[in-house]
Amino acid sequence: MNAKTLCTVPVSANTPERMVDQAQVALGAGADCLECRLDYLDSLTLPLARSLIQSLQKVVGDTPLIMTCRDPREGASHDYDRTLRLQVLMMAIEAGVEFVDVEVVNYRDPEVRTALDAALSRQPSCRLILSAHDFAGCFANLAGLYRDIQNLNSEAIPKLVYTATHINDCFAAFDLLHQTRGDRIVLCMGPAGVITRILAPKFDATVTFAALDDGAGTAPGQLTLQQMQSLYHAEAINTDTELFGIIADPVGHSMSPAIHNACFRQQGMNRVYLPLWVAGGAAALNEFLENLQQRPWLQARGFSVTIPHKQHALDYVQAQHGKVDPLVLQIGATNTLVWQDGGWAAYNTDYSGAMQAMVSVMGEQGLKDCPVAIIGAGGVARSLVAGLCTAGATVTIYNRTVAKAQQLAHEFNCRAARLEALDQMQANLIVNCTSLGMSPRVDQTPVPWTCLKPDIVVFDTVYNPVHTRLLRETIEQGGRTISGLDMFVHQAREQFRLFTGQEADAELMREVVLEKIGDR
Ligand code: NAP
Repeated sequence: MNAKTLCTVPVSANTPERMVDQAQVALGAGADCLECRLDYLDSLTLPLARSLIQSLQKVVGDTPLIMTCRDPREGASHDYDRTLRLQVLMMAIEAGVEFVDVEVVNYRDPEVRTALDAALSRQPSCRLILSAHDFAGCFANLAGLYRDIQNLNSEAIPKLVYTATHINDCFAAFDLLHQTRGDRIVLCMGPAGVITRILAPKFDATVTFAALDDGAGTAPGQLTLQQMQSLYHAEAINTDTELFGIIADPVGHSMSPAIHNACFRQQGMNRVYLPLWVAGGAAALNEFLENLQQRPWLQARGFSVTIPHKQHALDYVQAQHGKVDPLVLQIGATNTLVWQDGGWAAYNTDYSGAMQAMVSVMGEQGLKDCPVAIIGAGGVARSLVAGLCTAGATVTIYNRTVAKAQQLAHEFNCRAARLEALDQMQANLIVNCTSLGMSPRVDQTPVPWTCLKPDIVVFDTVYNPVHTRLLRETIEQGGRTISGLDMFVHQAREQFRLFTGQEADAELMREVVLEKIGDR
């Protein structure tokens, strides 16, 4: 096994003083390595670079330094000429930095190569990184380029970085990492490439990069150092780490990585839970799942599935003749895929999560013959209607698009009504299954104030914020409430059980969500 993957923070200020400040902050935050991007300096000269390198070396101590002065064709901040770029890097080598990064396109030039090789031979502790970047997409021949770099200089560390326009583009990077050994860096830029940055340690890659803060990245898609450490625990990822994640489009808002990773960590499990942005429809999801199936060495073990893939995922599992839980068939959607006996099995924990949340307030018998108003006719409403009908409740579905309410009511043999008819409802339990009231439009509510009576129970599936306007008004009227957070934690615990066979700490999950949404 290789040495650990260095979580590297780029320092990229426009003055030497700011660079040194950034370096100090990055070291304090726990960076394993720093990359000094000399091309970000406003007025780069040899003396300025010399004094900066000396200052940085004093500050970083034993922490390795990568010196880079990017070529404008490969993403430089300033357009410095090739001679100056080469001179500052030669000086960095002589000063004893651990790594210098040179674009392979420049190293192919015999003049550049002879000069660099001579400097490196005098300073054998300095390693040469030979890099190539494709900002438009994936290199035409990724493996061929890797071999070219090795043929040019077998001692160099190949660094290949390309833009993933879709998560499915990441698999070429994983394949190259899987097929090669030793020092190498292969990463995807852009939000679709995030998982290559998190999973670099799984392949013993030499380096992965993380930004100091949200605005300080030097490449699109860089996570912050804090996210890499506290959210994904990248330092603990290794070859045996099993993969979990949430499949969604979009995925950025999801709380699931935070809660599942916190529970994996608490229980000392060698597992990581990833944000999996599978943009597009059924074809994109099918390709993603096929890609995983063809690569058992990735050790993908379980996924949460949400908008827009809950039905696509079920279709995929059925087409593969995988196991489908009977509840999933009843609801017509899956929110949980688990790798079992060589294939994906489909479950639905929204259903059980919602039912547990309601039963904990109303009791097992409280739902029988209970008149219930469900507001909404989307995916969550479907799970709730299935659960409540099975529990013997008398359900009426109110929806903005009344045809969808009628369709759902027809499937479950209950009633449908227009949203405007809500003020005539006769319900003991009201369930909001729309996004009304969700952050940032927290002043919205789907239920007229006049419908809220002292004996009513209101369940708002919205959990961000936890204390929605609907729930606050219910309490003001003397009613009882069930929060979307209860449902969210119940469904996530059920997923965790399916993923691991172990129980998750409900309080930890709740704390993590409250911390993230800042609502206590
Ligand atoms: P979905 O399939 O997209 O359905 C959204 C529903 O909301 C539809 O019925 C839609 O009506 C209705 N709607 C949206 N905007 C509306 C508006 N401005 N006025 C009136 N109705 C509106 O979404 P979903 O997956 O069912 O999720 C619904 C909500 O459930 C989410 O927003 C989330 O807050 C919550 N949720 C909670 C949990 C949990 O664990 N607590 C988990 C997942 C989701 P039309 O049919 O007319 O478009």
